[in-house]
Amino acid sequence: MRIPRLIWRHFEGGAYLPMEAGTLDGPVHELPAPRRLVVPLAQHEGRPARPLVEPGQTLEAGTLIGRTDGDHGPGIHAPLAGRVTAITRVDTALATDVLAIEIAVSEYCSQHTSSLPDQAGKMPTPQQSRPALSGGRASSPPYGSKRETPGLERAESPPPPTCSTSGLHDANRKDGPVKRNPTELANAADHAGVIDLARPFTPLGEMIREAASSRPDHLIINGLRAEPMVTANLRVLRDHLEEILNAGMVLQAALGIKRIWLAVDRTARRFVRQCRSAVAGTPVRILALANKYPQAIPTLLAWTVTGRETPPGRSPLQAGVMVLDAVALADFWRALQHGSPVISRVVTVDGPAVLRPGHYRIMVGTTYGEVVERAGLKAPLVRLIDGGPLTGRCVESLEAVVTKATTTILLIDHDGDRIPTPGPCIRCGECQQVCPVGLDPRKLLDASERNRPQDVVRLHPHACVECGLCSYLCPAELPLAEAAVKLKHYSARS
Ligand code: SF4
Ligand code: SF4
Repeated sequence: MRIPRLIWRHFEGGAYLPMEAGTLDGPVHELPAPRRLVVPLAQHEGRPARPLVEPGQTLEAGTLIGRTDGDHGPGIHAPLAGRVTAITRVDTALATDVLAIEIAVSEYCSQHTSSLPDQAGKMPTPQQSRPALSGGRASSPPYGSKRETPGLERAESPPPPTCSTSGLHDANRKDGPVKRNPTELANAADHAGVIDLARPFTPLGEMIREAASSRPDHLIINGLRAEPMVTANLRVLRDHLEEILNAGMVLQAALGIKRIWLAVDRTARRFVRQCRSAVAGTPVRILALANKYPQAIPTLLAWTVTGRETPPGRSPLQAGVMVLDAVALADFWRALQHGSPVISRVVTVDGPAVLRPGHYRIMVGTTYGEVVERAGLKAPLVRLIDGGPLTGRCVESLEAVVTKATTTILLIDHDGDRIPTPGPCIRCGECQQVCPVGLDPRKLLDASERNRPQDVVRLHPHACVECGLCSYLCPAELPLAEAAVKLKHYSARS
């Protein structure tokens, strides 16, 4: 068998950003169930689902309530038991005015409301006033003014990092894991509504079907931190390492993939050692990489490992490499083992305005206002970002809701709100130097401002991986990434 040549080197451009542990070692708090959930029928950047329920209908937790018409598509499920009160519209971080199912939760005040006591030891109630998002003064912090909540930490002491491998070798015996049909696996992923958390949030079922026809020879499980402050995916990887590896090996066997890797940050030495011992005796190999931003983006990860370039604007599958997010594989394993649908997310809630930063398990369809209320504020909230500081999207309304694509919520106060004040370009060349795919963001901005679409194709905006680094590092604070992404979408449409 010919062994493919491995490159293992850093891509050109990029930057080493401070990636402190931050919230990583904290526990995962259960966010109390809200009285009402509004579950959007579009939770990835594809065709929306159509509703399968009607107002007045009673639902069990996990009932399928939406499915994409005409093809497989990921299912949308009721996160909790309740009654459908309306087919309505809602905003998310991905889109505005999305068709949604409103559910009056009947499990309210059951076990889901059991966590997060306030500093006086009382349970927070949904009736407490919500903070304003912007303009004027926000309400006073609902649960006091200190960052630490000693009672909370005592009540939910962090579990030790777990790397149990007890079931790993059962699921993957000497003769290999039980081989399954790719179509069966894709259907299971669709039925559970599993999506990959790398943009554009592709349904896992769609990726499996594409892989079955393109026959990749590498599978990379992406366990790298995507951005500073974003730690929820690492928390899930540490807590569910065994399930994630099992899911990867099931896919490897079903798709006939030759090599399977787990990519982790090499600076987390203890965890790298734990991973190495967890994969002993399995086909999985550990890739301990320098996490130079934006190394976690699938096209760059594929290039670093195999030296293969992904065609601009396409998936790494086109280069024979399947890159899957660790969280998606954890969801997939639960779907395979228990038939459990994706109804919640472990989300990092952080930022200078938050009173209790940490990881929260949040039901899909919960409003951002509810999250802010439960996590608390220590300063007036002026901006809410869904995603990391470089690629996140501003959320305009606290009535917008959390989706399966939400991994991080940043709450920004007045001092932390860095509003760019664009000045003239000083021609330092920094933007071109850091662009990981070799674009010239300054020229893209020029083309966008002069409205010269004929220049667009020549500048290859479709290769932009939307990392945001050019805007982040530009000393003139020019909106370079915004222009690149706008032209990328323009060129995709034309
Ligand atoms: S980084 Fe900003 S100031 Fe420097 S060349 Fe690029 S656009 Fe001009
Ligand atoms: S956002 Fe696009 S243009 Fe800017 S550095 Fe990243 S890949 Fe390059």
